[in-house]
Amino acid sequence: MNYISTRGGRGGVSPSQAIVTGIAADGGLFVPEQLPRLAPAADTSYNEHAFRCISPYLPDFDAQELRSFIGKAYAGFDTPDVAPLKSFGNLHFLELFHGKTLAFKDVALSLLPHLMTAAASKIGDSRKRVILTATSGDTGKAALEGFKDVDGVLVIVFYPEHGTSVLQQRMMTTQEGGNVAAIGVRGNFDDAQGEVKRIFADRQLAARLDAQGFALSSANSINIGRLVPQIAYYYHAYAQLVGRGMTPGEEVSFVVPTGNFGNILAGWYAKQMGLPVKKLICASNENNVLTDFLATGVFDPGRPFVATISPSMDILHPSNLERLLFYALGKSPESLLECLNRLNTHGQYSVNANFSGLAGFSADEQATRQAIRRVYDRFGYVIDPHTAVAYSAYEQYDGGEPTVIMSTASPYKFTKSVMSVLDPASSARDDFELLQRLAEFRRESVPPRLAGIADKPVLHDQTVDIAEMKDALLRVLNIYSTHLH
Ligand SMILES: *Cc1c(COP(=O)(O)O)cnc(C)c1O
Repeated sequence: MNYISTRGGRGGVSPSQAIVTGIAADGGLFVPEQLPRLAPAADTSYNEHAFRCISPYLPDFDAQELRSFIGKAYAGFDTPDVAPLKSFGNLHFLELFHGKTLAFKDVALSLLPHLMTAAASKIGDSRKRVILTATSGDTGKAALEGFKDVDGVLVIVFYPEHGTSVLQQRMMTTQEGGNVAAIGVRGNFDDAQGEVKRIFADRQLAARLDAQGFALSSANSINIGRLVPQIAYYYHAYAQLVGRGMTPGEEVSFVVPTGNFGNILAGWYAKQMGLPVKKLICASNENNVLTDFLATGVFDPGRPFVATISPSMDILHPSNLERLLFYALGKSPESLLECLNRLNTHGQYSVNANFSGLAGFSADEQATRQAIRRVYDRFGYVIDPHTAVAYSAYEQYDGGEPTVIMSTASPYKFTKSVMSVLDPASSARDDFELLQRLAEFRRESVPPRLAGIADKPVLHDQTVDIAEMKDALLRVLNIYSTHLH
């Protein structure tokens, strides 16, 4: 199985090459030449689902090595189930936040470091890897934690200074490890992601880094090594439903709180592979470019960027949309490039494609807050604002079939927003004090990973302008080149 560029490029590359470089030489995203077929399996552990879903995509990894990486990655989760399903009748929440940083990003980013270092050695690339990542809040922490103290790897994360929750930011700025840096930027996520893309495309910089024995890699969801592990939890969710009495073969819908379009694209892959999926519901917050795109075929990001209480979805330029577009346009790089050129020259493009199987709904801030309230009142269950956007989309859609809402983050990462809805009387307290109050609502104790966070020393306190990101990167490299061997 080779990977080709959505923009055409020259020939295919091996899975290892695709993981190591992240993005194709022509700026396109890697897609597998064809999608494998895979029947759903029941009665299988999460790790086995992961193995079944990932191995067809990574034929240059042998079975034993892949199983060992999967075992190590998910041993760090707080339940062997990895992604447990909470059921309320026909409605189910797939809890994807049981990893080390309490967000669904852990599912892929616990595995990626293993894949990345093995892939580099398979292709004989002995340069030190610089994992450069822009984050809307959760990828950054999960990448820092996943790559922390991995040999021969440096991790540099850029987060929008005012674009994450207080706890998301504190989780990053207190990150320990001898090879990590978290840097704030004055700008929003799209600005930071745009500059990271320019840094990746900077040939001069690449040559300079190469001369020093460094090479850039991406931990953003454009990396195929992030996309593929996410397919597994769609199969795992399906198996859990069958385990609870659903007829095998029955169609299920998934509601996915969407930002960069990575999670839902993994679901779309699962559907193409043969998982009985009726609809994939793309849930957006007020930054609802995708809702409009799926309804009309017009992609128009020319609108104000809104900072919401679901910050990890505050994205107007979803990177992975390019992959969907590639398929929707009949895998034609020429048509795709036409769209991208139009986007550059006219600020939008329009396609006459059929997105059957996908539907988009959005929730504004008020609807998001009401969803948190309603789910608590109905089920006694506390959800985070991203999951709440999905719940609101579910209410707008409700097709009657069994439906799984992807619960992408723990509510503890967004205590202030959640508690301002559930317990307005506590609104004077700060995020850190509210952790305890939220735990009382959930009749449990504060997750150990967050319990002491208020007192942890801040180890990263640099903030730069967008234009200074490259210099900041070089400064970090200078510091580390004397430490790394
Ligand atoms: C990243 C993230 C999303 C968006 O996922 P994409 O794969 O970027 O679409 C949604 N919710 C949370 C909590 C996230 O961290």
